[in-house]
Amino acid sequence: MALVDKLKQPQSDWVSKAIDSHLDTTGRWKAYTPKNFWASHAVKCPRAIFYKMTGVRATPVPTWVMRLGHNGTAMHTRYNGYFSKMGLLVAAEKRFGCEDPPISGKVDMIVRQPGNLDTQWVVELKSYNSYAMKYLKRAKSDAFTQAQLAMHLLEGDIRQAFVLYEGRDSAEIKVFYIKYNLEYVKVILAKLRIIKMAVETGQIPDKPVNSKGAKLCKYCDYKGQCWG
Ligand code: SF4
Repeated sequence: MALVDKLKQPQSDWVSKAIDSHLDTTGRWKAYTPKNFWASHAVKCPRAIFYKMTGVRATPVPTWVMRLGHNGTAMHTRYNGYFSKMGLLVAAEKRFGCEDPPISGKVDMIVRQPGNLDTQWVVELKSYNSYAMKYLKRAKSDAFTQAQLAMHLLEGDIRQAFVLYEGRDSAEIKVFYIKYNLEYVKVILAKLRIIKMAVETGQIPDKPVNSKGAKLCKYCDYKGQCWG
């Protein structure tokens, strides 16, 4: 056994406790009812969107999930830097929205293409673990929908997008290209208009699945409120 392994080390883990306590007290849910639908939520279950839009308190997420989210934010900053240094960054965190239905969104980046600087791209950035990366064959529906709404609502008629996934533990990247699809956008807008009416009348949408074990519900923030 190496000498270092024989030496006694302090056991009290005050560091994890302090960080968790900090995140618990500063990062938790605050009473808030959004005025607009969030583009990033548009693909979610209508009932979950209804809960959000009526100010129902979501189940608090564990602190490790909060740290994952912070890693995602740091990833955005890094890619902004890469594209900025390549001279291809047009905008970062650019807002978009509309009134009917009321939507607010933010596109992660708008970039130019090398050799074709007149062509701009909407960019969504996501980080996944390497297991999820292995089975990733196309853009997931959340990123696909965000990109479609951004292309539809941003000024400048940007009609192409890509989603860049980075492995959190491998730094591998996968890029999936997306074309604007007006028919898909119309379906999403119609869905949000129906939910808006439900919010106005207080009529909660039916559950779209029969069991809380359904895949749809696995990571839902409102599972407890929905199924009791
Ligand atoms: S628990 Fe399932 S059915 Fe209920 S709001 Fe969430 S996703 Fe929808």
